[in-house]
Amino acid sequence: MLNLGYVEWDERGHVDENRRRFVRALGGEEMKLAGVRQIHSSLVRIFRQAPRERLKGDALATRRRGLLVSVQTADCVPILLADTRKRVVAAIHAGWRGTAARVAQKTVGDLRVHFGARPEDVIAAIGPAIGGCCYEVGPDVAHEFSCQFAQAAEWFDGPFAPLSTGDEPTPFAWLQFDPPGHERPKKVRLDLAAANRWQLEAAGVPSDRIFACGLCTLCRMDWFFSYRGEGQRTGRLMSAIGVK
Ligand SMILES: [Zn+2]
Repeated sequence: MLNLGYVEWDERGHVDENRRRFVRALGGEEMKLAGVRQIHSSLVRIFRQAPRERLKGDALATRRRGLLVSVQTADCVPILLADTRKRVVAAIHAGWRGTAARVAQKTVGDLRVHFGARPEDVIAAIGPAIGGCCYEVGPDVAHEFSCQFAQAAEWFDGPFAPLSTGDEPTPFAWLQFDPPGHERPKKVRLDLAAANRWQLEAAGVPSDRIFACGLCTLCRMDWFFSYRGEGQRTGRLMSAIGVK
């Protein structure tokens, strides 16, 4: 496994070498790798040329030849888009905050507005991310999703409804003592990839043009980096796409 992120425990020189190997494996030796400082937002950056400085954002789009737009992940959902007719590409980083902020849906919209891309010409790849099998989240996430999406319940496994109301638990523990066997549910599992697939479809990308790898980073720590699984000691996966 190649760590492709500049993390504390890895040397910069090693990461640079890993990135060179990665780009070579993609067949993009002549291409320039562009990334953003990811902040779990819905901020989409459009690159007309190679960026001179590292901008904040969570999605990058370009039609500039020779530029590889990339995102880094270790559990969050990486998504790559390509409009095969207009030859425009985008890379998206979608954790729960970015997903709730509709970063995938917004990126398809930006391809349409800035490049004249038609959503029906877009193909999408959803990469490895923490799956609905493993991604336990609390009431804050359930509430945020239930406010944002009418169909949110479809993406959760477990007691979504009681967690999604956003009612603050009372600070007086003795007031919320439930009888044994009726304790309040604390956790639900979220399928982030499903929520992002829905957004791509809502933006007009045909469902048969959306390809999801379906692999869970936490289940498959032998193949991938997982922040939930390894914490600060984990590395970063990279997903990149460009026009030669
Ligand atoms: Zn899993």
